[in-house]
Amino acid sequence: MATATKDYYRILGVSESASADEIKKAYRKLAKQYHPDANRTDPNAGERFKEINAAYAVLSDPEKRKQYDELRKFGGFDFRRPGGPAGVRHETGAGGFSFEDLAGFGGLGDLFSSIFDPGRRRAGPRARAPQKGPDVEYVVDIDFELAARGGKIQITVPISEECAVCGGSGGEPGAKMQRCAECGGSGTVTFGQGGFAIKRPCPACMGRGSTPEQPCHACNGSGVVRQQRQLQLNVPVGVEPGSKLRLSGQGERGALGGPPGDLLITFRVKPHQFFRRKGLDIYASVPINVAQATLGSKVRVRTVYGKHVVLRIPPGTQSGTKFRIPGHGIRKGNRQGDQYVEVTLVVPEKLASEQMDAMKKFAESARLRY
Ligand SMILES: [Zn+2]
Ligand SMILES: [Zn+2]
Repeated sequence: MATATKDYYRILGVSESASADEIKKAYRKLAKQYHPDANRTDPNAGERFKEINAAYAVLSDPEKRKQYDELRKFGGFDFRRPGGPAGVRHETGAGGFSFEDLAGFGGLGDLFSSIFDPGRRRAGPRARAPQKGPDVEYVVDIDFELAARGGKIQITVPISEECAVCGGSGGEPGAKMQRCAECGGSGTVTFGQGGFAIKRPCPACMGRGSTPEQPCHACNGSGVVRQQRQLQLNVPVGVEPGSKLRLSGQGERGALGGPPGDLLITFRVKPHQFFRRKGLDIYASVPINVAQATLGSKVRVRTVYGKHVVLRIPPGTQSGTKFRIPGHGIRKGNRQGDQYVEVTLVVPEKLASEQMDAMKKFAESARLRY
C-alpha cells in the first residue's frame, strides 16, 4: 500500500486537470514503453510498470480519483519517497501537514485504504457479533498466451488482517484496557487546517478509543497482522481482460469467529509483441521479403499454443494480405476461433552484390529507371 504516497499525476506525466481521455492516452503510452516484455534488460522497468498501473487504477476510476484528489487537497501530503533521490515536495491546499506524522498509525497506506474503503472495521466502532471478514481485491497480470490457453499460476497476495491472538484489539489477551489519553476515548481526533476541520481515526488507539495496558506480542499492539498469502490460481481458458474470479474464504479473517472474506481476483492480460486478440480469433503479422511475395513461399507462423504452423504464401502476394489459419484461435466450449496472419512486405536495406545485380537485371527487364 506504500504506493498510495506517490504522486499519481506525476507518474503518468499529466496535469491534475487532465481529462479521462488524456489519462488513458498517457497510460497507454507509458504502459507500452515500460512493459516488462519490451524491457527484458531494464531491471527498473518492472517497478515502473507497476507504478504506472497503480496510478492508472486510481486516476481512471472517477470515484477513486475524486477521493485521491481530496486527500491531496486536504493533506498537502508528502510525496517524498523514503530513501529515494532528493524528491520534490508537492504541497497543495492546506499545506505543511504530512500524513507520515501519524507515527504508529501504520503510515499513509492504512489511512488511505480506510478512506478508499470506508466500510472497513478499523475506522469505526467494533461490532460485538461475529462478522464476515472483509473481501480482498487483487489484480493479476497474466501473459497473453497463458490467458489464451489457461493454466495454473502461483500468486502472492499481501493480506493485512485482524490479529488472531488479540482478535484485533491490539492488547495482550487478558490485559486491561484503559481509555485512550490522546482522544479521550472518542476514537477520533480533529485536525484544523486553514478553514478545514478534518476528523481522522485517532493514531494512538487506532480509532478504538481505548488502549491496552500491555500490547499484543503477535501484532505489536496494532491489531493487524500482515502476511503474504501464496495461492495457486486456475486461469480459465480464454480469460478476457478485466474478468473477475471470486475465491471464497481467501479474504481477511472474520471478526469474533466470523467467516473469512473472499478474495476477488481481476485478470489483466499483458499485451503480446506478436499476437492480438479479437473475440476468439488471434491476429498476428508476419514479415516477408520481395522474393517470397513475388515467387510464393512457405512461412512458419507461431500459434498461441506454442506450436508452429506452415502458411503457404502464393506467388504475387501483396503486402497487407490476410490469411486465415482455421482453428488455432481461442477455445470456448466446443467452439474455437481462428488465427489470422497479415503478411507485410519488408524491403531489404542492404543486398549482397549478386543480389544487387539480379535486382538490377529485374529492373532493366521491367524497364524501370533507378
Ligand atoms: Zn494482536
Ligand atoms: Zn485514541
